Amino acid sequence: MEKIKMATPLVEMDGDEMTRILWKMIKDELILPFIDLKTEYYDLGLEHRNETDDKVTFDSAEAAKKYGVAVKCATITPNAARMDEYNLKEMWKSPNGTIRAVLDGTVFRAPIQVKGIDPCVKNWKKPITLARHAYGDVYKNTEIKVPGAGKAEIVFTGEDGQEIRQTIHEFTGSGVIQGIHNTDKSITSFAKACFAYALDTKQDLWFATKDTISKVYDHNFKDIFQEVYDSEFKDKFEEAGLEYFYTLIDDAVARVMKTEGGFIWACKNYDGDVMSDMVSSACGSLAMMTSVLVSPDGIYEYEAAHGTVQRHYYKHLKGEETSTNSVATIFAWTGALRKRGELDNIKELMDFADKLEEATLGTIESGSMTKDLALITSIKDVNVLNSEGFIKEIRKNLEMKL
Ligand code: NAP
Ligand code: MG
Repeated sequence: MEKIKMATPLVEMDGDEMTRILWKMIKDELILPFIDLKTEYYDLGLEHRNETDDKVTFDSAEAAKKYGVAVKCATITPNAARMDEYNLKEMWKSPNGTIRAVLDGTVFRAPIQVKGIDPCVKNWKKPITLARHAYGDVYKNTEIKVPGAGKAEIVFTGEDGQEIRQTIHEFTGSGVIQGIHNTDKSITSFAKACFAYALDTKQDLWFATKDTISKVYDHNFKDIFQEVYDSEFKDKFEEAGLEYFYTLIDDAVARVMKTEGGFIWACKNYDGDVMSDMVSSACGSLAMMTSVLVSPDGIYEYEAAHGTVQRHYYKHLKGEETSTNSVATIFAWTGALRKRGELDNIKELMDFADKLEEATLGTIESGSMTKDLALITSIKDVNVLNSEGFIKEIRKNLEMKL
């Protein structure tokens, strides 16, 4: 078979530990034999980030801006233990945080559903994609423990000296106060990314806040979403037969349980944190969850939702067998290849992505899977494979399809 040609390179962001091992296996077995792969390679492995004073992370984000599509392997976010382990010059920031800041993007996460790994919520037939606003609110708060009686005020002082002042509470005893903020710019970016991604993936968009209680703060989110929708997306949504649906967060939670899925649920920062863990655990495994960062100007960075699977890596280093699930990382590659094919109008690339996904899911459905899935599947007599064996089995299935 002749290899599929690419026009524009993908930005390839390599990573750490067990996922770095899987990364190479996936490329060697499932990509390079079939595609004349063009990538611009950035090594975001912690050692190389340290060597380059983390410049490589910024460079990779700039490259994503230039080419429009990136695929990223999971990376270590350093903590005190990693400082010693890797003898780091500095406790470098999370690469995902850095890339997100450069691209000003929103992260969309969706479970990969497969027969035999059934969601706890029986009527969820299609994946629910969560879009979490990744800036501000309680994640950038200022808090004071109030020692005793006194007056708490909230004050804004404009650059022009204008002052806005309101009383929060007249304390008669001790208590707590919290100040939070968001910016119209960030909320607008979030809204645009959500509407654009909904159109791109042909799914309805839900958004929910608590604007009945938070009549200024949450209402501002609601208003910005509505303005962005009316001015830029209403016609396109109607043309595509899609719906934008706003409701209260508690109503959304109740409705989500009763739907069959297949839509995007946009959440404020805190709600998104909580709800994405709920949706992912209801769908079985973090190893079966895709994640894509989408910028308001349409740059896509695909990755797995899980980390570097450190525990498995240490086993691997000791020469022990591992059974690490590569599905989410494979889907990061298929997502990126499909998007590249779409942008460059290369149908073969898009078809290849579809077939690789089918081969991956087909492997699981036929009873061959990694240990994490074997523990939760309803399929009988499963064939539990090691990390490499699973990828080789997918290759067999893929070759039959091609
Ligand atoms: P993790 O890598 O997601 O793994 C946590 C546990 O979940 C694993 O020990 C394993 O459970 C299970 N698991 C996750 N992915 C799996 C897979 N593909 N196949 C099978 N089991 C899987 O989280 P972590 O161990 O807390 O974090 C390790 C490193 O990843 C940290 O340095 C962190 O900074 C980084 N991280 C990176 C990203 C990212 O780049 N996007 C995201 C999160 C964390 P068992 O051990 O029980 O088998
Ligand atoms: Mg969380």
